[in-house]
Amino acid sequence: MKIAVFSTKNWVRQSFDGANEAGSFQFTYLEARLDMNTVSLAAGHDAVCVFVNDVLDAPVIKELKNLGVETIALRCAGFNNVDLKTAHEEGLHVVRVPAYSPYAIAEHALGLILALNRRYHRAYNRIREGNFALDGLLGFDIHGKTIGVIGTGKIGQIFCRMMKGFNCRILAYDKYPNDELKAEGVEYTSLEKLYEQSDIISLHCPLTHETYHIINEYAIKSMKSGVTVINTSRGPLIDSNAVINGLKSGQIGYLGLDVYEEEGDLFFEDLSDQVIQDDTFVRLQTFPNVLITAHQAFFTKEAVDNIAETTLNNLKEIEEKGESGNSVVPEQAYGG
Ligand code: NAD
Repeated sequence: MKIAVFSTKNWVRQSFDGANEAGSFQFTYLEARLDMNTVSLAAGHDAVCVFVNDVLDAPVIKELKNLGVETIALRCAGFNNVDLKTAHEEGLHVVRVPAYSPYAIAEHALGLILALNRRYHRAYNRIREGNFALDGLLGFDIHGKTIGVIGTGKIGQIFCRMMKGFNCRILAYDKYPNDELKAEGVEYTSLEKLYEQSDIISLHCPLTHETYHIINEYAIKSMKSGVTVINTSRGPLIDSNAVINGLKSGQIGYLGLDVYEEEGDLFFEDLSDQVIQDDTFVRLQTFPNVLITAHQAFFTKEAVDNIAETTLNNLKEIEEKGESGNSVVPEQAYGG
């Protein structure tokens, strides 16, 4: 099977070559992000392998079909960037990596909370400049605080348990509450109550039509003053302009982002020599109480190895059986 691997970085090449020691697959590593301008690079391949910011809308999928591509292998869990309906209509298989390390993302969310609260990033720079003063570094105990968790699937439930370890009260909102978590003391509640009572809110739901801009002006107004908001899920869950207003008014006390709604033009690239044109992103960076990482929550050795192994296994299943246990079907559109 010949596979065009879009959005290739060194870590992708290393992990995929490592998982393909037997040489069963022929990879063409492409740095380009897949979109309508680059889709022709898929010619002569049986499959494309893509990541979170590749664009697989209807025109791209139709062109992939024209070029003879039969499979779209996502090397991520989320599939909000794939027009599943069109893929299904065109007869393309879509496979994904449903869980590569939910611990990696839950731990990163906790890391953002700790860093924002105790200002590790600021302290690190201060000490290097010989400034040992503590002014401006005052944090708060996480112990005993109320944590709101939106989405208690694979990642959200690990995050709940980690916060339980801090002796926090956990309020959760999910369309499908988890009985085990309930038994462990997690309280499922309405979004309204979660917003009203939580000191820290962490997003772990997928991007869907329902969750798009779930954190908007109205949600922010109903939150506790000085709330911490963490998003390691998908950028468009948050209305960036609404959080900027919330930060300016002090309603949002801390914001930790691993994802951003317009991250496709920024994240995973070294743009240090360029002028960033996204004024909203640049404004977000100006706040001392905002910490942004560039979609790195998944980026652990365990997760990267799992992504490569699962993707190769998915492709092997498609090649041998014409289906995979990790296929994504249209009914799941905008989920995951
Ligand atoms: P999951 O499918 O196991 O869990 C998602 C949970 O959200 C489910 O329990 C589901 O019932 C719930 N949900 C669905 N719609 C909801 C709604 N409208 N309101 C509240 N809850 C809702 O997924 P997961 O593996 O835990 O991943 C969660 C998210 O994390 C995904 O969107 C994924 O794209 C994102 N993610 C980010 C990274 C990263 O590196 N930053 C890595 C992996 C996954």
